Amino acid sequence: MQRIILTLALALGMLGIASAQQFLTIGTGGVVGVYFPVGGAAAAIVNQAGVGLRLTVESTGGSVFNVRAIQEGQLDLALAQSDVTYQAYHGEAAFEDAAFEDIRVLMGLHAEPMHLICREEAGVESFRDIAGLRVSIGNPGSGILNTVRAMFEAFDMREEDVSAEYLVATEAPDFLRDGRIDCFFYTVGIGGAAIRDITATVDVTVVPLDDPELEQLIEAEPYYAFATVPADTYGNQPEDVTLFGVKALFITSTDLSDDHAYAIVSALLDNLAQFTGTHPALGALTPEDFVTGLGAPLHPGAERALREAGLL
Ligand code: GLU
Repeated sequence: MQRIILTLALALGMLGIASAQQFLTIGTGGVVGVYFPVGGAAAAIVNQAGVGLRLTVESTGGSVFNVRAIQEGQLDLALAQSDVTYQAYHGEAAFEDAAFEDIRVLMGLHAEPMHLICREEAGVESFRDIAGLRVSIGNPGSGILNTVRAMFEAFDMREEDVSAEYLVATEAPDFLRDGRIDCFFYTVGIGGAAIRDITATVDVTVVPLDDPELEQLIEAEPYYAFATVPADTYGNQPEDVTLFGVKALFITSTDLSDDHAYAIVSALLDNLAQFTGTHPALGALTPEDFVTGLGAPLHPGAERALREAGLL
């Protein structure tokens, strides 16, 4: 009898898991960035909520990779930059030949300023000073490379004006430390581990990016904004620094069901303090940040959750 009950329980358990659990993967970025820990925190919260979803996190090359992977059905969810999301939806820049009209936003997240980090002795005081230097402008597939290219255009400069490297975010700080490059770019949430580590251990400059050329770019496009990095966020940064940048979005596609989108966003909103407490970049989020600067339409399920929470 006991054996029968045990077998029955096991069979039911397995059935339960098979029918109730849906596995979804979140594409993030390099492990030294902000996407990776934020994706991990979102997954933990949704998994805890017991809504029949099992989210796992994957480290990836960044925004452009993530959006393409969702488009090709390789990923279900991802973190991505607002400029990349907008361009994918509208078929611009990296997505000129393959617009992704089914891309949808679950919620807006943190500001992602462009960090231009240079060895102090390189004497870089503003963007134009990088001409002639060895500069990592981001790996193919990153949102970094995408945004840096738009910045070159804004300054009427070309990629060939620097000796360009295309390093991943996990590699660039080590190259800078070893003197193999003079500067690197990284579009990342304020307080990202890679920037904190390098500014604490090497004499570097966090270069201000507040030029009139960038102001014009912000006026021309809906997805760019200035962000202020408060004094002492990083080593050797005694004053506030204004940086040009974008914002991070939690994205998916119309393939995700309304119920699942609703369950994910509701779980995050119901556990907001836990979510925003996981990384300093999320600490400054306001309710408005969840629903503004999205670059593509909200997923209807997400919209329902945001509306119920009084955010829309
Ligand atoms: N914004 C970066 C990118 O799309 C990733 C930043 C991060 O990993 O936090 O390439």
